[in-house]
Amino acid sequence: MTTGEIIDGKAFAAEVRARVAEGVAAFRAKAARAPGLAVVLVGEDPASAVYVRSKGKATREAGMESFAHRLPAEASQDDLIALVERLNTDGAVDGILVQLPLPKQIDERAVIAAIAPDKDVDGFHPENAGRLASGLDGFVPCTPLGCLMMLKDRLGDLSGLDAVVIGRSNIVGKPMAQLLLGESCTVTIAHSRTRNLPAVIGRADIIVAAVGRPQMIKGDWIKPGATVIDVGINRVPAEEEGKTRLVGDVDFAGALPHVAAITPVPGGVGPMTIAVLLRNTLVAAHRHAGLPFEVEGL
Ligand code: NAD
Repeated sequence: MTTGEIIDGKAFAAEVRARVAEGVAAFRAKAARAPGLAVVLVGEDPASAVYVRSKGKATREAGMESFAHRLPAEASQDDLIALVERLNTDGAVDGILVQLPLPKQIDERAVIAAIAPDKDVDGFHPENAGRLASGLDGFVPCTPLGCLMMLKDRLGDLSGLDAVVIGRSNIVGKPMAQLLLGESCTVTIAHSRTRNLPAVIGRADIIVAAVGRPQMIKGDWIKPGATVIDVGINRVPAEEEGKTRLVGDVDFAGALPHVAAITPVPGGVGPMTIAVLLRNTLVAAHRHAGLPFEVEGL
C-alpha cells in the first residue's frame, strides 16, 4: 500500500519565522525601531494563558517588542475597549491581538470592531474581512493564511483545483474559502447542515478540515492523491489511563494511504498560526513606517 507524505508544519513554520526575523532586522535598520505586538489577555483561562505566553516568546525571538496586557476576569467591556483604544494610538504598537474567547460579560464583536483595522493583525475586524472578500490588501486571519502558504509551497499554482473547506467560522472556514477562491480554486464550503459530506469531500483535490470533531473525516471519503490540511485540534482520551492526546478532524492513519500529503495533529497547522501572526505584525510595522514590504517568501 502506498502512503502519502506527512507535511512537517513545525519545520515550515520555523522557516517562516526565520524569514520574519531577517525582515525584522532589516526593518530595524531602516526604521530605527522594532515592530511591536501587544497581546491582551482577559481572565485566567489556562489554555489562553499558554497561547499568550508562547506568542510573547515567539515575538521576542523574532526581534520584535512584545507588550503583554492582562485584565481580570471581571473586567468590563468598557475597560477592555479603553485599553484597545490606548493601544490604537500607541506608536510603539504595530499589532494588537485580543486573545479569544472573552468572558461572558464582554461582546467579542464590539471589541474586535474597536481595534484599529491597520493594527488588526488577527484579521478579524469586519473591514479586513471585507477587504479579503473584495480582493483588497488587508490583514488575513493567521490560521487560514498559514494553511494557504503550506498548500502553495506543496502544490504551486492552485488554479482550477477543486477545494473543499469543512467549517464556516469567521476565524478559519470563511477566510480559508476566500483565500482559495483568490487562488482560482473551485471552492465548496461544507458545514453542519451539508448533506452527504463523504460525496462532497470525495471530489476535492484540496481538503481543509476546520470543524472541531475528532477524526470525523474518514480515509475512504478522500479522492486518491488529494492534499489534506487538518486544522482541527481535539483532545481525546489516550490509551494510557487518565492521559489525553490531541487529534485532528481527519482520521490521520486512515487517510494516509489515500492522500498525496497531509498535515499531522499536532505539528501541522498549529505552529504556522504564530508564524503568520509575526509575519502580519511585520507587515503592519512596514505600513506604519511607510516602507514597502518586500520580504522574500512572505
Ligand atoms: P467553530 O466551532 O467556530 O466552527 C466549526 C464549524 O464546523 C462550523 O462552521 C460548523 O458548521 C462546522 N461543523 C460542525 N459540525 C459539522 C459536521 N458534522 N459536518 C460538517 N461541518 C460541521 O470552530 P473554529 O474556530 O473554526 O475551529 C475549528 C477547529 O480548528 C477546532 O478544532 C479548533 O480548535 C481548530 N483551530 C485550530 C487552530 C490552529 O492554530 N491550528 C486555529 C483555530 C482553530
